[in-house]
Formats: sequence, structure tokens, C-alpha cells
Amino acid sequence: MGGVARVPVAIALGSNLGDRDDYLDEAEERLAGFLNGAVASGRYETDAVGGPAQSPTYLNEVVVGSTQLSPRSLLEALQTIERGAGRERPFPNAPRTLDLDLILYGDFVIDEPGLQVPHPRFRDRLFVLAPLSEVAGDWVDPVSGLTVEQLRDRCA
Ligand code: AMP
Repeated sequence: MGGVARVPVAIALGSNLGDRDDYLDEAEERLAGFLNGAVASGRYETDAVGGPAQSPTYLNEVVVGSTQLSPRSLLEALQTIERGAGRERPFPNAPRTLDLDLILYGDFVIDEPGLQVPHPRFRDRLFVLAPLSEVAGDWVDPVSGLTVEQLRDRCA
């Protein structure tokens, strides 16, 4: 019959090392390879959180679209894109050429080793909620029951 259903997903992108716009452009192109109807938010310049003092500022954005990939396959695809951007992990919160986080996967709640969805920290991160509310403000977080816009207003 109809094949595998598509699920709406939200991905957060961030870069604070090298040519940040180039890394985000490249990531958007790669994401469009497996997301249908991908839409990108604007880009936000934000201060680094939790990294070493004087970490360079980030450019952040969010991409939403729909996919037939499973959550685990989607996470692996995101990690492949990160590696393609030369992402290294010398220490936690180190500056990075490209960071891709799976924020929302439909209304699924997943808590497995190495995969938590919704992303466990997105409700406290204005650098995710501000761009996400541009492109998916009505999306209901399945954990809190609040919309993305409500989460953003609570966080701001
Ligand atoms: P980071 O180094 O901050 O990019 O964190 C990547 C690690 O977080 C990987 O080991 C992932 O398996 C894990 N992880 C768990 N849930 C998620 C998620 N929703 N999106 C991205 N990474 C996740």
C-alpha cells in the first residue's frame, strides 16, 4: 500500500568555528537530501553556553521537514554530516564547525542510550526555541504539552 509514513522532524544547527555560514549552507543542502519540504529559519548570532571562556559566538538555525528515516537512522545521518564538516570532539562543549541536534520527531518520546527525543535540553535553549518558533511555533512538545511558542515565551 502506501509505503512508510513521513514524520515531521525538527533539527537544530549550530556553528562557532571557521566559516559558520558556509558550514550551515552545506548542512542545509545535505539535510534537503533526506528531508521532504525542508524549511530553514533565519540565522541567529548567540553567545556560547557552557564552553571555555571567550568561546566564539554561534550561528544557530533550525530546519524542519519530514522524513521516512527512523529516529536512529536520522541521528546517524546527522552525525555523518557533522563528520563531513570536520567536527571533532576534543572536550565537552568545545567550539565546533557544525553541531546538529535532533529536537523533535513527530510526537515521539524516545529515551534510549545515545538517543533522547525530544532533545532533553531544548526547552531551556532560546537559541533553539527562537528559530524553531519561526518555522514551527504551533508544534506541541509531547512531554510538556506546551507549544514551541509557549516554551519560547517562558524561556525568554
Ligand atoms: P554532542 O557532542 O553535543 O553533539 O552530543 C552528541 C551525543 O548526544 C551523541 O552521542 C548522541 O548519541 C547523543 N544524543 C542523544 N540524543 C540526541 C539528540 N536528540 N540529538 C543529537 N544527539 C543526541
